[in-house]
Amino acid sequence: QHLSNQLKYEHLNAFVSLADRASILTRAESADASPQGHNVGKHSPYGRLVAIKDNICTADLPTTAASGILKKFISPYDATVVERLRDAGAIIAGKTNMDEFGMGSHSAHSYFGRVKMEGLEGQEKSAGGSSGGSALAVATAQCWAALGTDTGGSVRLPAAYTGVVGFKPSYGLLSRWGVIAYANSLDTVGVLGSDIETVEGVFDTLNVYDPQDPTSLLPSTRSCLSSEKSLWGPLRVGIPLEYNIETLHPGVRKTWTRSLDLLQERGHTLHPVRLPATQHALSAYYVLAPAEASSNLAKYDGVRYGSRAEGSDGTPESVLFAKTRGQGFGPEVQRRILLGAFSLSAQAIDNYFIQAQKVRRLVQQDFDKVFKACNRLVSRSFAVEETGVDILLCPTAPTLAPLLTDIENQDPIHEYMNDVFTVPASLAGLPAINVPVSIADEDRDVKVREGGFKESAGMQIIGQYGDDKLVLAVGKELM
Ligand code: GLN
Repeated sequence: QHLSNQLKYEHLNAFVSLADRASILTRAESADASPQGHNVGKHSPYGRLVAIKDNICTADLPTTAASGILKKFISPYDATVVERLRDAGAIIAGKTNMDEFGMGSHSAHSYFGRVKMEGLEGQEKSAGGSSGGSALAVATAQCWAALGTDTGGSVRLPAAYTGVVGFKPSYGLLSRWGVIAYANSLDTVGVLGSDIETVEGVFDTLNVYDPQDPTSLLPSTRSCLSSEKSLWGPLRVGIPLEYNIETLHPGVRKTWTRSLDLLQERGHTLHPVRLPATQHALSAYYVLAPAEASSNLAKYDGVRYGSRAEGSDGTPESVLFAKTRGQGFGPEVQRRILLGAFSLSAQAIDNYFIQAQKVRRLVQQDFDKVFKACNRLVSRSFAVEETGVDILLCPTAPTLAPLLTDIENQDPIHEYMNDVFTVPASLAGLPAINVPVSIADEDRDVKVREGGFKESAGMQIIGQYGDDKLVLAVGKELM
């Protein structure tokens, strides 16, 4: 079924490369025949088709990060997350389309053309970004699950727009070895699937220490994180008041209220909380992420990495670099490099980069002040045992998926605004999940599609660092 959907939905441009069909079929058959030694549980990836975002290295298919500069790149090795999936018996479906290097919120900045979601009466909608290809591949059942990356919301936002589950685990749990870096201090591999159980099955397969990734959480720290205890009994659910912004789509706001009611009916208690630094989180993110990106992308110069600009043999190095980078990077990536290089420059670093780092710390402290559990990575804890909350519930995005025609000539700031609810958890490294919750009839403007697509608004559950299992458990209650 997944393979025939890949043909049927080819025009949506969710994939940039597909694995060979014949070999997928052979593998699926042999998986059926010999599951020895494998976990073949209902939610195990064994014998399942999993799509991989194109900024995650695979040895058998190109890895381009949807950039012209990497259009010919084939990695000599698999990323650890891909290797673990293969070891668990998963079959790689192909590589999914995305915003170039993960920079964008609509999967429209791709060397391979934009990702398109079908809306009402042939209208085309944004599938979100930057993991829009992965989210749409899941939404249209072109695969069983997909991997994405989430630096500032790139798994959760597309999940919200396409109506699937998208999970960004705590920073440091899933290996980044073999994942093309955008902003190292924020980059997180995430999982997309049509239900929480699928996502959890993939997460469990990948959630192990990787000595190859220096930011992978050590086994000794992992063992302190277990939060199984808190899954039992009523939870204290926090409502972050700062997220109730004026421009929140009425359908999203109503779904938020209904979801809160539902949790209350289930015996949990609701508590308004304040996260005052949230209002500055987006600005801080868009200083920090481009700064890290400008440094990471410096290596694509046509000599060390990247396809060299044509006709530049014998040109002086500086001309070669400029030509290669001018031709190879798309306009949004160039904008980010300029922004990043500026905010790190001697004249601007104090007013931009350093300030943004301070805001990042305040955002982290805001979360620590409202959660009941203390942050196990931070020595100075605020420990609000009595009044603290277990999880936060808020929307994933301020609106439903916009029309492609509406975002066509939008200025970049508008695009950045889509991330306003997702970046705070990214800056703090916290686990966060998008859960699709169906919206009231009168607020619908997305066509119901086959393939498990649910007409929904995305609700986001955010937990304290390491409370990944709790976040997943609450997600199950909402679905
Ligand atoms: N839209 C955000 C950005 O462009 C987030 C991207 C991401 O999480 N990779 O930076």
